[in-house]
Amino acid sequence: MSRFFSKTLEKLIPYTPGEQPKQVKKLIKLNTNENPYGPSPKVAEAITAAEIDKLMLYPDPEASELVEAIAKYYGLEKDRVMVGNGSDEILGFSFLAFQNEERKMFFPEISYGFYPVYEQVFQASGIHIPLDENLRIRPEDYENMGGTIVIANPNAPTGIALELSEIEHILKTNPDDLVIIDEAYVDFGAESAVKLLDKYDNLLVIQTFSKSRSLAGSRLGFAMGSREIIKDLNTIKYSFNPYNLNRLSILAATASMKDVEYFEDTRRKIIETREWTVNELEKLGFEVLPSSANFIFVKNSNISGKDYFTGLRKNDIIVRYFDKPKISDHVRITIGTPQQMQELAIVTRKLLDEK
Ligand SMILES: *Cc1c(COP(=O)(O)O)cnc(C)c1O
Repeated sequence: MSRFFSKTLEKLIPYTPGEQPKQVKKLIKLNTNENPYGPSPKVAEAITAAEIDKLMLYPDPEASELVEAIAKYYGLEKDRVMVGNGSDEILGFSFLAFQNEERKMFFPEISYGFYPVYEQVFQASGIHIPLDENLRIRPEDYENMGGTIVIANPNAPTGIALELSEIEHILKTNPDDLVIIDEAYVDFGAESAVKLLDKYDNLLVIQTFSKSRSLAGSRLGFAMGSREIIKDLNTIKYSFNPYNLNRLSILAATASMKDVEYFEDTRRKIIETREWTVNELEKLGFEVLPSSANFIFVKNSNISGKDYFTGLRKNDIIVRYFDKPKISDHVRITIGTPQQMQELAIVTRKLLDEK
């Protein structure tokens, strides 16, 4: 730390991204919930040499074309959608924008690792609500909170989804507080809260192109809510980085949003591969939490989380291990292609046999 670093940020612990190995050729990379199928082929068509020439010009700060495509897909008015440089940016804007006088922000104790980081950067007073003994979010724990609530649905790293009625319960019991639903994984089997937007003006839904649309490298996220909430987020955006999406990303995301067929096809494949993998691992004695995401959270009493993680790594398979209380027996495995998951099953069997 230099002597110039802000004293108020002295204790800041930044987010630790999953490993992004330089040499991916041999590795089976199942550690950061990327989508193995790649973006829609329409994305490559959209990024023409002529568009690359236009990089000399600033992008459209409103990203109107993209906002329109998202609004159309969800049947919303354009002014109820805003876009960000990854949903991480929108989550950051939200932590900055939506703190009440007491600066309270509520989120699950075990959830996306970025929430407690934003809590620190934006000096919120974070209240971390424990999960139940089955690592589930209990909606009853989120009644009348008196501050902004942030819930990932499905939750990470568990993959467990809440029912829409449970989200609705949280919205109903917090009419004067904002409820942010982070739907990074919603397309893999949960129900989107977008349906509730017309009924609840205290709802903000955040989604990303990183997982179900396979554009993690493009950094694209979006938010949907009331006009007023979207306006607030834009106030932050225009006070921070009006050109938050670059030209090529806007093109990529717009093309991807319009290619519904590819989207449906690839997400269905991932769901099918997930079900296959769950079945295989259960046969090998694993406990697998019920996942509605493109990853599974698993443990096995015959091998510790750490040993399983290390054993896979030695065999060129990377998964994610969290050395944290309550989840250190588990590893999180991204769903890859069927071939990758077959290899995972083979190596897993071998590791268990060696025990
Ligand atoms: C991956 C992820 C995000 C971030 O997505 P980006 O759009 O890539 O910034 C947000 N929330 C959760 C729960 C995630 O897992």
